[in-house]
Amino acid sequence: MTDILASFLAGADKSELRSIVYLSQGKLHPDFVPGVLGMADRLVLKAISFTSGTSETDTERLWIETGDPGKVAETLISKKKQMTLFSEELTVERVVKGLTAIQDADGKDSQDRKMKTLANLLHDSGPLEARYLCRTVTGRMRVGAADMTILDALALAFATKEDRPEIERAFNVTCDIGLVAETIAEGGMDAVRGIRVSVDSPVKVMLAERLPSVSQIVERMGGRCAIEYKYDGIRVQAHIGKDSVRLYSRRLEDLTSNFPDIADSLRKACGYGEAIVEGECVAVDPETGFMLPFQNVTHRRKKHGMEEAVRDVPVRMFMFDCLYRDGEDMTPRPYLERRGALESGFRLGGQIQMTTMRIVESEEEGEEFFASAIGHRCEGIMAKSVAEDSVYRAGSRGFLWIKYKKDYQQALTDSFDLAVVGAFYGMGKRAGRYGALLMAAYDQETGRFETVCKLGTGFDDAFLDGMPALLDGTRMEEKPRDVDAEMVPDVWFDPAVVLEVVAAEITLSPIHTAARDMIKEGSGLGIRFPRFTGRVRDDKTPEQCTTVEEIAEMYSMQAHDSDGLSDTGPE
Ligand code: ATP
Repeated sequence: MTDILASFLAGADKSELRSIVYLSQGKLHPDFVPGVLGMADRLVLKAISFTSGTSETDTERLWIETGDPGKVAETLISKKKQMTLFSEELTVERVVKGLTAIQDADGKDSQDRKMKTLANLLHDSGPLEARYLCRTVTGRMRVGAADMTILDALALAFATKEDRPEIERAFNVTCDIGLVAETIAEGGMDAVRGIRVSVDSPVKVMLAERLPSVSQIVERMGGRCAIEYKYDGIRVQAHIGKDSVRLYSRRLEDLTSNFPDIADSLRKACGYGEAIVEGECVAVDPETGFMLPFQNVTHRRKKHGMEEAVRDVPVRMFMFDCLYRDGEDMTPRPYLERRGALESGFRLGGQIQMTTMRIVESEEEGEEFFASAIGHRCEGIMAKSVAEDSVYRAGSRGFLWIKYKKDYQQALTDSFDLAVVGAFYGMGKRAGRYGALLMAAYDQETGRFETVCKLGTGFDDAFLDGMPALLDGTRMEEKPRDVDAEMVPDVWFDPAVVLEVVAAEITLSPIHTAARDMIKEGSGLGIRFPRFTGRVRDDKTPEQCTTVEEIAEMYSMQAHDSDGLSDTGPE
């Protein structure tokens, strides 16, 4: 796939490369720009019927048979094309213009305008073009060109394999793969090296590894490290401009309208003209000032009643990193310097605070600090390297940061964030509803979702009732192309919804496909006694769920911890 993509990108018109790269992922722009393609199937059918001259009833019948508007368009346009000629060429520019008009249309007659714009594009499409146009416009276009595959292809097409890490760095600090493609095609690696962190282009967040004990953390950090409270809230990356502030979630959604008070307080507290900072937004009890668990801050993610939410759910931001200040990219600077930039550049107090931190030099100091974090209702601690090379590593999970949570003391493992890829109909009390879900982890190398468990515990009635609304929008007629599964559920889903799951143990599994052959020939890894925690991780994209590499690592960590590991297979 990489080779095909590389030769295609190398031959493409440079001025169109940016759009081509977005389109190859079924998008019109990077994820942090608001707006997604998601035209309703029925409206698409109308456009197909209109252009192909097929009745709406016949068009709909074909749709019921195939479940895919793309296939319907391909079949009907192919019949029609035997009779007519193209009138205007379908260029990249025209497609982008049309799709943008469809995405942006709103207000009066917008449905009609969307339908006509699509019909117009279909009129000049061949059958295959019609198939892909209809899949793109409904948000279903998947050719499997994951970010990592495109970065590989860009290295092959315009540079060398050795340049690949630098190309990825440019992507990680801009989250804009189209920009990287355009830059490398036009200016080569020199221009790519010039890509810097900048305000209003979100940076991929740095993530933490995990270890099973404080002593191992201190040892791994070389006997000395910083430890911060790990707050239980929502991670926010704030881009503070001269006059405005934008807040992004870790999945690059714009959260500014959810935390208008934080945006305002940040601008007032910030002594720099421009800065990018990160912190955790946590709800606090208005009466006692105590921090409240995560669920409380999610009220701020509702679309309506924001004024009341701002009043009823006070939120504080605990800052922990500075990525940029006044023209200076801080990501290559060591941790203590970045933290120093927060301490010296912000007026702290009220809503804007720093995370509580202490430098520790022994296990005892670490344990003491952990106890104090739990006492302050935090979920654990984050240890951070204070070494000279403790840079902000955008987009990567590494041992410069190590998390340790309260849960680790009860269970063998951290919680997992897993993507729902299928469902099984329930029996008994759950008859007529989905009773269990097939859950998968993500393989970053291959861009595929691999199953780890069948999840049927931890669902309350409200969740069971709400499952169709949560999941059915991504229902698929057959196994999605990017899912590896041997277990066959009653219903397949395109990976989109991420749930937090806890489990007793990770075991070798003959049926689950995660990390297949990685630890033992012919076996994958599965999790035993999985239980839903009640937390839908809508702050994570499916690609941000727990990776199979992490599960393999947790497996070895656990094997190291308990040698009597069972091999009885997961639920
Ligand atoms: P988790 O599910 O444990 O929150 P995660 O997969 O979201 O983990 P991790 O890298 O494992 O991400 O944990 C880091 C997360 O912890 C950050 O994304 C942030 O939301 C949160 N956090 C809370 N306190 C801190 C802190 N002091 N420093 C860094 N991150 C913190």
